[in-house]
Amino acid sequence: MPEEFKIRLFAMAPTAVRLFIVLFVISLNTSAYCATERTEVVGIRHWSNPSYTRVVVDLSRKADFKYHLLKKDPSINKPRRLYIDIKGAALAKALTKSIPIGDGLLKSVRAGQYDKDTVRVVLDIETLEEYKVFPLTNPYRIVIDITGKVSEGKVAESKKAPPEKKSPPGTAPPEKPKPPPATGKALKVKTIVIDPGHGGKDPGAIGKRGLKEKDVTLKVSRMLKKELEGKLKLTKVILTRSKDVYIPLDERTAIANMKRADLFVSVHVNASVNRKATGVETYYLDYAHDKEAMKVASRENFASTEEMDDVLQFILKDLRRSGNRIESSNLATHIQTKLLSNLKRKYRGIKSNGVKGAPFYVLVNSNMPSILVEISFLSNPRDEKRLRDEKYLAEIVKGITEGILRYVNGEKVSRLEKVDERNHIASVFEYSGVRQ
Ligand SMILES: [Zn+2]
Repeated sequence: MPEEFKIRLFAMAPTAVRLFIVLFVISLNTSAYCATERTEVVGIRHWSNPSYTRVVVDLSRKADFKYHLLKKDPSINKPRRLYIDIKGAALAKALTKSIPIGDGLLKSVRAGQYDKDTVRVVLDIETLEEYKVFPLTNPYRIVIDITGKVSEGKVAESKKAPPEKKSPPGTAPPEKPKPPPATGKALKVKTIVIDPGHGGKDPGAIGKRGLKEKDVTLKVSRMLKKELEGKLKLTKVILTRSKDVYIPLDERTAIANMKRADLFVSVHVNASVNRKATGVETYYLDYAHDKEAMKVASRENFASTEEMDDVLQFILKDLRRSGNRIESSNLATHIQTKLLSNLKRKYRGIKSNGVKGAPFYVLVNSNMPSILVEISFLSNPRDEKRLRDEKYLAEIVKGITEGILRYVNGEKVSRLEKVDERNHIASVFEYSGVRQ
């Protein structure tokens, strides 16, 4: 019997060893696969004032996440808190795991490894009226916007607090929430934020002769600031960047929200594979109802159509509810109309590509009427030549300024523009219907 057992063991050995090797190799491969597939939480950024805070959680790649608001729990000395669980994720070693905020809305943001597969980011809340959580892509990030009303005492207290992190100097003190814009009446516009597209490591579109979108947008935005300040003496005009620096799209919106801007205008130059493509177009945040609009948004967002669909799922309800959509489309219509008529007066071959909705990341969850204008095509040789000429840029600046003034003065969109807009909005609703 022992002899027989030895023989059987001997006979089995090669199979067992082979099996062991196979299993070992599989486990090695699996762990290598997990290592590359695992999402890292690489950063937590925030901007805040006493009535608005944006927290952005940067991830190394796309991940599933869920969020939940927890009630205050005095028994364990825990405040009200909002947590976000990120699946299949680990904390990056260099990540700061606890960030004190203390702006009246949030006490702090904390991140921890909840279990071996889940990172939990917790926002400890002082006061909260509304919150929104949505992702943006490429790089993948989760944006958490918190809004609230704080008591005067808290505002005063907060003024004494250290200056807000990551925000440019000279932040305006918090103001009371503005009333919703009315039509037919001049609007009180205290602050306008102008956003020169791209910058730093991101040049945007580049013309055949080397002109870069980031340089054109900065030049136009600086000129626009000067022109607007000349016309609207009581209005403060703020640029999201005043030099050649890179600013993520989520930060540009955060600046506008934090400054409690009344209007937000993002300046861009278009590009197309078709070198003959030309014209001006103005966008507001909505579904794209034509392929061209989707292409422009895709290029400006550095995102694929599928990625933009992912984001749209999160902001769908807000898009329908938002009163800013109609206001933004009115502002866009005024700017498009004046930009076009100004350029047409002095230049030949100026074409209108219309006022359109599209899911531009830079416009997502901005708290004011917001538009993005594509002033010409850098891929078009004639446009590129014109964009080097200050006289051409001055006409663009004049056009945008006049459009903003028409909006600020509460002028109504003309009948023709309105018909166009109604058709446009009808088609947007049709499109949304199909999507459901
Ligand atoms: Zn651009």
